[in-house]
Amino acid sequence: MLRCRDISKLVSESMERQLPLGQRLQVRMHLMLCRLCAGFARQTRLLRRAAKQDSERTAVDITKPEATLSQEARERIKAALRERGA
Ligand SMILES: [Zn+2]
Repeated sequence: MLRCRDISKLVSESMERQLPLGQRLQVRMHLMLCRLCAGFARQTRLLRRAAKQDSERTAVDITKPEATLSQEARERIKAALRERGA
């Protein structure tokens, strides 16, 4: 059985590359049982998505004012950070 520390590492890794099936299943099982890790995984995905959207927008249209973080992305990140601190 993997521990929370292993899970958070694997969750971060899974954002960069596809994990082997066995590890994916172990992570998924842990996330179903562990609220802390499930919250961490959710936030990691949110932040990852916000960062990705932002970098895509910047790459396409760096001269426009909207190239900075959108209001929506800002709120999402703020909310995620708040949750994490709680
Ligand atoms: Zn856990």
